[in-house]
Amino acid sequence: MLSIDDAVARLASSIHAIEETETVSIAEAFQRVLAHDMYAPVSLPPFTSSAMDGYAIKSSESGGAGSTFRVIGSSFAGKPFDNPANSVRTAVRIFTGAEVPAWADTVVLQEDVDREEETITLKDAPASGDNIRHIGHDVQKEALLLAQGTKLGAFDVSWLAACGVASVDVIRRIRVALFSTGDELQDPGKRLSPGQIYDSNRTALKELLRSKPVEVNDLGRLRDDPVVIEEAISRASNIVDLIVTSGGVSVGDADYVRPIVDKLGELTFWNVALKPGKPLAVGKVERALFLGLPGNPVSTIVTYLLFVARAIDALGGMAPANPLTVPAELTKPLRHSKGRREYQRGVLSRDGNRLCVRPTGDQSSNRLATMAVANCLILVPETEDSIEKGEVVDVLLLPNEAHHVVNNPIETLLREAS
Ligand code: AMP
Ligand code: MG
Repeated sequence: MLSIDDAVARLASSIHAIEETETVSIAEAFQRVLAHDMYAPVSLPPFTSSAMDGYAIKSSESGGAGSTFRVIGSSFAGKPFDNPANSVRTAVRIFTGAEVPAWADTVVLQEDVDREEETITLKDAPASGDNIRHIGHDVQKEALLLAQGTKLGAFDVSWLAACGVASVDVIRRIRVALFSTGDELQDPGKRLSPGQIYDSNRTALKELLRSKPVEVNDLGRLRDDPVVIEEAISRASNIVDLIVTSGGVSVGDADYVRPIVDKLGELTFWNVALKPGKPLAVGKVERALFLGLPGNPVSTIVTYLLFVARAIDALGGMAPANPLTVPAELTKPLRHSKGRREYQRGVLSRDGNRLCVRPTGDQSSNRLATMAVANCLILVPETEDSIEKGEVVDVLLLPNEAHHVVNNPIETLLREAS
């Protein structure tokens, strides 16, 4: 069976990054991937400005504590003091973000002076450069702002806005077709007939895909009918860059997805030494990459995080980055048998200076309840058997999942049940 690392490497080598670009306004640039390096069109700050509310003076004119200066005007943010000349021992009342007059080299905090009418008396000796933000202190004009391949988050976009950038060239959105398979599936809101369950995988995938630069073509839930599935894959393969499916990739009599991919295109690999998610199928049909995820809801999510997310990043031209893991101490033993790397759902918490983690109990891959309360996945190496309480394990933080464990009612229920 293929190891996860080999599977990730084979997937990566079968992907060609999309090169088509488009120009979008920064209001549309969130979560898009930069097509070129971006350089600062201006220095920030663009003028010498004050970091505090106080008085701008020339420090060399001070004789130390007790020196007096005459206040000759004010400099507000956006409304600079408009008299460039300086006579000796003058001060300008100045506010945060306001331009510092060219002759001044320090801003004395307003709480460090005594003011009487138009005269201030310093309480301490000022130092040159205090409370001054120099031109380019944040970024110099023409410095590299953001590198090609950066996925633009809120901070990146605001950084571009701060530098006056109104539009950027980004990689076009990756076109993804998505469907779930299973005769047993029903839509939420409908009555369940005998033997039916609700389709949750399409919802999980669509929500997870929201943070990716994609255009999702939701083909719905398909019956376990080889003709229907073949037609859907065949049609999608000429339109999209990536086809993601759930279910039907295992060895059951109604698992048609894998043989259809094999027939229409090629299967790059199938079966990975992973738990949950072993029967993952990866291939190519026409111009589309194909990822067939196993149908058990937790398997779908884990294989999305390990494979689909990375495939989309690679298609989008993002530099490959290994997800951040942190070491944590097991506060409950963990059951595992050698052979496959396992990703167990866990709850990570902090106890003083220690990070602690415990598995969410029964790890059956159908149990979405334990996924809903997890804030991390515990990595259990393929070489390990069960791991005892007190040992340190690697933990993968789940994206955007900062659960407040204490107040989570499902969590309480699970704790009481175990
Ligand atoms: P399969 O991979 O098709 O063999 O499905 C494995 C298990 O996952 C079965 O118990 C299915 O009923 C369940 N399953 C498959 N697809 C979904 C889905 N979209 N939502 C929820 N459960 C599913
Ligand atoms: Mg099925």
